Amino acid sequence: MTFEQLGLSAELLRAVANEGYTTPTPVQEKSIPVVLQGHDILAGAQTGTGKTAGFTLPMLQLMQKVHPERHKRHVIRALVLTPTRELAAQVGESIATYGRHLPLKSTVVFGGVGVNPQIEKLKRGVDILVATPGRLLDLVGQGKADLGHVEFFVLDEADRMLDMGFIHDIRKVLKLLPKQRQNLLFSATFSDEIKQLANGFLRSPVYVEV
Ligand code: AMP
Repeated sequence: MTFEQLGLSAELLRAVANEGYTTPTPVQEKSIPVVLQGHDILAGAQTGTGKTAGFTLPMLQLMQKVHPERHKRHVIRALVLTPTRELAAQVGESIATYGRHLPLKSTVVFGGVGVNPQIEKLKRGVDILVATPGRLLDLVGQGKADLGHVEFFVLDEADRMLDMGFIHDIRKVLKLLPKQRQNLLFSATFSDEIKQLANGFLRSPVYVEV
């Protein structure tokens, strides 16, 4: 299997080749076509499996397809929630890397650092926001981030999010999102609590296991 066969656009193939990737990993093989078809996914994948590219690449491609005029304003169309600032930063870097040939702007917000630089970046407009839950809700509460245009919602490392006590924050965020959207949930493990959360917001998800 090659990245070409998975149906990725020229811009993304260039970025992937630039990273020196020759072959998709198993989670990429399984998740990329499913996400490109517009399905919600519930994926069991650990860190190190290439899961970040597994959701980032197809999401970037779907975002690329929309007529550019419609989204000149750089509104938040994709939201990626992560449990920690380290993971948020890492995912943000991956998005910047894979999306380098696309006219999409992304930024990362997390707690424990000054909020003003984050507010400034949001003011300039972003298409993709990577965030930890607490700081995101803070920014939304201050009217600095609008989640009313989100088309893609990614919950990364959902099991760690629950372990860290973010369930209530996640539920608050879910309430702020438009009903019509595509959801991608990644988790290394599947407790009853995760299954319950997933059942609550995924629509006919395709299960991806590696
Ligand atoms: P992740 O599981 O998303 O944290 O990715 C783990 C590491 O694998 C990252 O350093 C990626 O740059 C790398 N990676 C992702 N996909 C591929 C691939 N298809 N071929 C080689 N390396 C990859």
